[in-house]
Amino acid sequence: MDSLRTPPGLDQTHHVSASFLSDQVGTGISASTTEHRVAGDRGHRDAPAARGAPGTGEAGPLGRYTRQRATFPDTGLAQISRYVLLGGVRQLLPDSRTGKCMRFRVPGQAIQVWRTQHKKSAFYAGLQVCGSVWVCPVCSAKISERRRLELVQAMAAQKAAGGTVSLLTLTTPHQRGDDLAELLEQQGKALEGFLRDRAVKKVLDEMGYIGQVKALEVTHGRNSNHNNGWHPHFHFLMFHQKVGDPAQRVDWTVRLYNRWAAYCVKAGLGMPIYIYGIKLDDGTQAANYVAKGMWGLDHEMTKGHTKRGKEGSETPFDFLRAYMADHRDTQAAALFVEFRNCFKGKQQLSWSRGLKARFLITDKSDDQIAEEHQNELAVLLGMLTADQWRDVLKVDGRGQLLDIAAKGGWDNVQKYLHFIDGARDGVQFQPGMLDEVRQLLTRETA
Ligand SMILES: [Zn+2]
Repeated sequence: MDSLRTPPGLDQTHHVSASFLSDQVGTGISASTTEHRVAGDRGHRDAPAARGAPGTGEAGPLGRYTRQRATFPDTGLAQISRYVLLGGVRQLLPDSRTGKCMRFRVPGQAIQVWRTQHKKSAFYAGLQVCGSVWVCPVCSAKISERRRLELVQAMAAQKAAGGTVSLLTLTTPHQRGDDLAELLEQQGKALEGFLRDRAVKKVLDEMGYIGQVKALEVTHGRNSNHNNGWHPHFHFLMFHQKVGDPAQRVDWTVRLYNRWAAYCVKAGLGMPIYIYGIKLDDGTQAANYVAKGMWGLDHEMTKGHTKRGKEGSETPFDFLRAYMADHRDTQAAALFVEFRNCFKGKQQLSWSRGLKARFLITDKSDDQIAEEHQNELAVLLGMLTADQWRDVLKVDGRGQLLDIAAKGGWDNVQKYLHFIDGARDGVQFQPGMLDEVRQLLTRETA
């Protein structure tokens, strides 16, 4: 730690924090408390009660932070996590488009910071984006939300027209040691045969089938009791006209299962067990699936640090999270890279032909969505110079800056930028220090 320098013009770290932030904070933060927190004593994170009661104006930022972490209701923290994870992708896949996402200016444009009208979130404009729905924590969150709204629109229209939407889930047997690429290829073959099958088409006819949206998902069971490896699977939102009574739906399910099982065996996947291989859930489950955007990152984020998935199954973003929490988890890193190589270029959500047009939904690519402004009602707060941006990148502060912009406004962004000025030239900060600064600059002033 001897090599650490304080920012230019700031002779002592604790004085810096206190005086620099004084007009914003106003109360509750003495130089001495700042000093020991800046010293990186993470033990205080677990003792929020020691920081005074909420609502007194003296509730330390640590207390609020700790409570927020428990459930992740704070969109700012979720956004900070996304940028931390994006930094992880850069470490694991430095040459990928995602490794370069949100770092470089769009030629001819300035780097802009915008804030949504309700002041809950902020975002950048003028930066090149990767548009990867699979490996980019930032782009995928944005794309997922847009895709979710498309589905909500289509399902509402379907309901208004007297139809229904069922959730059909198809899985295949899998075990530890399966090769993910091979598994995906075999599943693709089984699915192709299944969807062309005459007996399947007969069932779909009886359901009054209109079209479907296929969602491809994958989890991994390395932490489950029976580690059975990669688990890619499909969810279909089936748009159809006839709901069917319970007996009718069981009949449909059994007939679909028989054909699915046959194509799984034919593709070399083995025979799926009835209760695991297929599920035909009604409109409630379909609506639930869409409401929570279960295929996307936001869903994973809102789960926070509770136990994830069934029996400890993990998603690829969990691997990234595990790797960022502990770089010795080389298995997580390797699994994330394997996932990326196998899923690159695959569609996450695919609509059957004509279905989008039927519900008047404009067809937009993931890239187009990733490049769009998040919110038309947003307000431009300000622009960053190239040097300021270099400082931000150097301290991995992209998420922090947005959180400050959303909650503290442009004045506080300026303070943050002033604080990290010189990072690009090698000025370093003690661990945890910048997050303390962010917390002070995002405190509600009213
Ligand atoms: Zn991206």
